[in-house]
Amino acid sequence: MLPYIHTTTRLVNTQTFQEIDVVNSCGNRSCPICSKVRSQRLFSLYSPLFAVIEPSKLSLLTLTFPNTNTLSEGLFVLKNAVSHLRHQKLFKDKVKGGLASIEVTYNQGWHVHVHMLLYSDFLIRKKLIKSWFKLTGGYIVDVRQVKTEPLQALNYILKYVQKGLKFRGVPPEQVDDFYYIYNATMYRFRSFFSFGCFYGVKKEKSPDWESVDYLESLKKGVLSHKHSHSFSRFSDFLDELSYKESRGLTF
Ligand SMILES: [Zn+2]
Repeated sequence: MLPYIHTTTRLVNTQTFQEIDVVNSCGNRSCPICSKVRSQRLFSLYSPLFAVIEPSKLSLLTLTFPNTNTLSEGLFVLKNAVSHLRHQKLFKDKVKGGLASIEVTYNQGWHVHVHMLLYSDFLIRKKLIKSWFKLTGGYIVDVRQVKTEPLQALNYILKYVQKGLKFRGVPPEQVDDFYYIYNATMYRFRSFFSFGCFYGVKKEKSPDWESVDYLESLKKGVLSHKHSHSFSRFSDFLDELSYKESRGLTF
């Protein structure tokens, strides 16, 4: 297994001067720590919506297609096919929105597939199978209505964000190479995406937390207009800063 190196950034609350260290992502999609953090972030982003959603309109859909020789080919086929499917009348008329998580495994070739949580009136399974087959040559399409609480369904789709990578039939001495290929190909690739009514959901950022670098610039007397609202009186802040420094508190 490759080493995952995480740096940290110290944040300071400009109102309370409380300090926290946050762990930065190592950028490796196979990293179990970063995957968990990503999944938790997505849960906190979408859970308010799922708390008020109409449960009977949720369904789970799994779309697969035959293995590809390279991972990039599999991702390309999947993204194109999903995009085409979403623009078909059948899909557009019925589906109001959805969340989708791409899963990758390896077993005598790269197996790329997508799990979707859809918010829709209903889906016509037969027509969907036909469309997907035409687009990808894929033959397994699973559509199920969600019978659990909406938040459980959200957790279900998010479990694929943090699911460990499975290689079958790869000699042990080649496993690291496969991890390398996976991480290099998936770097910055959107393996989780939203569309329709779930698109563009954003978490409000707390304006009070700033990184240490920003505080360093404040110490030098540079205060950007963007942040000027954070302080009632700039001089109060500088006083507080020198008070903290005099007590040996590091930033
Ligand atoms: Zn990581």
